[in-house]
Amino acid sequence: MQNQIIGHQQVIEQLQHTVASERIAGAYLFVGPTGVGKETVARYFAQLIFCQQGTHPPTVCGACLACRKVNSSNHPDLQFIRPEGSLLKIGQIRALQKQIIYEPLEASRKVYILTDVERMNAEAENCLLKTLEEPPAATVLILLTSNIRALLPTTRSRCQILQFHAMPTQELAEILVEQFSVAPEQATALAIGADGAIGTALTHLEKGDIRTEEVPEILKETDPLTAFRLAEHFKDNPETLGELVTWYRDLLFLQQGAPIELITHIHSIAELQSIVPRYSRLRIQQAIQTVFDTKSLIDNTNTNATLALEVMCLKLVK
Ligand SMILES: [Zn+2]
Repeated sequence: MQNQIIGHQQVIEQLQHTVASERIAGAYLFVGPTGVGKETVARYFAQLIFCQQGTHPPTVCGACLACRKVNSSNHPDLQFIRPEGSLLKIGQIRALQKQIIYEPLEASRKVYILTDVERMNAEAENCLLKTLEEPPAATVLILLTSNIRALLPTTRSRCQILQFHAMPTQELAEILVEQFSVAPEQATALAIGADGAIGTALTHLEKGDIRTEEVPEILKETDPLTAFRLAEHFKDNPETLGELVTWYRDLLFLQQGAPIELITHIHSIAELQSIVPRYSRLRIQQAIQTVFDTKSLIDNTNTNATLALEVMCLKLVK
């Protein structure tokens, strides 16, 4: 499952072309939501570079020694650098800089995959910049991030940027049914809960953490004092924020008498129908906008998430 790539066809073709034409850059920045497949593709890119099969166009054979070593996380020229605790620390960057100057041991290049690079502080990022400015010839740095805005413009400009997108939840649900034998109703819930990110959906599936179709409390709540408790819930379960919009959308559809096929949370339709009379159309539209604005604020800026979520919940329960 680890190396199965789902979607991202365009990115894969671009990387294959890069390897075929031997125009591999020194630094890449993979940008996209958490759980969307950036790390799987980064590992695949390393395999494309390492694979000893030498096919044209380049592919990953999965059988040669190099491919097998990558699959077993055992290739001496591939290294992952992940945050220690909540931060990617300057000490980790310095350690990288000490060993990046040595020649690769087995492959033509050394590949370093740095995950969650938005979690560097300014000191660590400035330190990394020195390497990004002049990467040693036989190295490839692949930086992964879910929040490009948290990075310095100079970091971004030193890297070749590749964008990764979540897939429409309907498409993801179909893949979960067809390729992972998930029951259709469960698949829809998983896809929505994961906001279209396949890795997140599969993690939830593995953990048996399948979102039940409970109507979010915030739709029913009127007491402003509960807003703070509900904000806490969204902070602990950030993936439910994207899902929240689908509940308000259902309310809007029900209120407008839309066809039943458009309703996402069909199992909760009776409860939703009992809630609809409390809402005006304007209030539902404002709620959707509020959730979108808050999500965008949290995803794309350095804003204080707790504060943003509290303000959101206060607006939603009023
Ligand atoms: Zn191979």
